Amino acid sequence: MAEGARPRPMAGREQPTRDAALRLASLHVAAHPLVAVRLTTLRARQTDAPRFRALLGELTTLIAYEALADLALTDTPIETPLEAMVGAKLAEPLAIVPIMRAGLAMVEPLLHLLPEARVWHLGLYRDDETLRPVPYYNRTMRSGQAAHCIVVDPMLATGGSAISAVELVKEIGAERITYIGIVAAPYGAMRLAAAHPDVAIYVGALDQGLNEQGYICPGLGDAGDRVFHTGD
Ligand code: URA
Repeated sequence: MAEGARPRPMAGREQPTRDAALRLASLHVAAHPLVAVRLTTLRARQTDAPRFRALLGELTTLIAYEALADLALTDTPIETPLEAMVGAKLAEPLAIVPIMRAGLAMVEPLLHLLPEARVWHLGLYRDDETLRPVPYYNRTMRSGQAAHCIVVDPMLATGGSAISAVELVKEIGAERITYIGIVAAPYGAMRLAAAHPDVAIYVGALDQGLNEQGYICPGLGDAGDRVFHTGD
């Protein structure tokens, strides 16, 4: 490769269509208008880092609301100021598993919904030439600490990091795994669904495809750079 040239790991690789990915039973793409309007501002080039983080948080909450609609509950007796009643509490220990860096921006909004959840940080970066995930940090949880793990990363591009993250989560014995993302490419969604058909995938949008560098198009650029203001 010529010096200074950007690697083109997706050049010539066949990609599935959006319609093919939409047929996946495990893929859920948000249809809510409040998601659509926030995503539009999130994607826009001129949206600055503080606004980007705020919107990413709001989108995480909206998508999680749907993704977590069938959380298991158990009865819990309480007394209101007027009388006794049986309320509900979450039945299973949960863990939020952010894929660093960009997944970090989705942790706080999820902890607002699930204050008791554990957080298991996973450091996986994408090698620019191969697009393969390279692990650099893994604060391992112990087996049995979370029955339900929620893996989070805003961008489901080639699916490599998501597939590795789910494998690690399975190793610690999670019985149920949900993936929450903001924007997906058909390529990544299909690969994740093929590797882990038992994982429910919830995203805000399914875009057209990946460019030769493996970026989602139209996408929103590099999510980590936009969250942490590290781009040009
Ligand atoms: N990661 C990003 O941040 N953006 C993309 O488009 C793909 C992967």
